[in-house]
Amino acid sequence: MTVKITPSTHTVSEADRAEKVAKPGFGKYYTDHMVVAEWTEEDGWGQAELKPYGPISLDPAAMVFHYGQEIFEGLKAYRQPDGSISLFRPEANALRFQRSAARLALPELPMQTFLESLDALVTQDAGWVPSNIGESLYLRPFMFATEVGLGVRPTNRAMYMLIATPAAAYFNSDNAVTVWISMEYVRAVPGGTGEAKCGGNYAASLIAQKEAAKEGCDQVVWIDAKERKWVEEMGGMNLYFVKGKGADATIVTPKLTGALLAGITRDSILTLAKDLGYKSEEVMISIDEWRDGVASGEITEIFACGTAAVVTPVGRAKSIKGTWVTGDGTPGPITKQIREGLLGIQHGTIADKHHWMRKVL
Ligand SMILES: *Cc1c(COP(=O)(O)O)cnc(C)c1O
Repeated sequence: MTVKITPSTHTVSEADRAEKVAKPGFGKYYTDHMVVAEWTEEDGWGQAELKPYGPISLDPAAMVFHYGQEIFEGLKAYRQPDGSISLFRPEANALRFQRSAARLALPELPMQTFLESLDALVTQDAGWVPSNIGESLYLRPFMFATEVGLGVRPTNRAMYMLIATPAAAYFNSDNAVTVWISMEYVRAVPGGTGEAKCGGNYAASLIAQKEAAKEGCDQVVWIDAKERKWVEEMGGMNLYFVKGKGADATIVTPKLTGALLAGITRDSILTLAKDLGYKSEEVMISIDEWRDGVASGEITEIFACGTAAVVTPVGRAKSIKGTWVTGDGTPGPITKQIREGLLGIQHGTIADKHHWMRKVL
């Protein structure tokens, strides 16, 4: 199934686009096109179509508005030194999108359709891909329930869409973020949807984000729902703790328990750390170990990772149990090395020995 191409007849002017691409922000501007495909229980997936970006029309009783049956993905297209454009591990996003769909009782989108939709949009809107290091075209695939009706049951109609937005670095990587460890609200529960990338997880998290802001913090750190002591993740990112220094350092990340989102950046960093000669561990980490580890100096650096922010240092942590600080607010040497290693592969300045990059154009 190849994507039907219906190009826009009213794309933004080259000058306007250049201005937007030069100062992209994050989610501020959208490209000229989008991809849409529809699914019904009777007929399966229809043909995917690339068409002009614009509003869509849905019945007010479409199920997504009432019961939140929705999933999404996030990945980036990077300009390469020779001017070509490549995606970072899109097959991993395709597989995760299928796992999220299964959990939310939505239809699985074939990997080929997912990849073809990305290729079609990036090719059509190639002029929107920035070229500075740290900048990219952020791609947002998503799917939602479109059956009309208020009965609570899995939808028999769904819509897949793909949109794209030029993206600058999400956070200023030179400044450590401060985090609020939420003891009252949790993001995910065992048996829940924590492993799925669904809008509902974010909807449930916003009140804690508001609380974090009130506490003067940038982001929320989630702990487990049951014992309220194990660190899970930060906002929409996974976490890493660096223990020790130099060549003997070990990088530690919370184990995937089913309540955490299995980040593709997290997974890539486990491989990258090995390449760089560091030991790595996936284990349970308690907030007491965090507090005591930074106090004793055993934990030397902390960083968060995800597609949007790549690698972001974490400095001050605050909770009802007190405040504790890692490092001096600037990225530590291993955080920097991993960030640069990952960005180098993504931008094609470091050899891609794990074949993570998929060339589009
Ligand atoms: C998307 C996401 C991540 C990061 O995943 P990547 O594949 O690295 O972008 C981490 N946590 C949550 C909750 C997420 O939604």
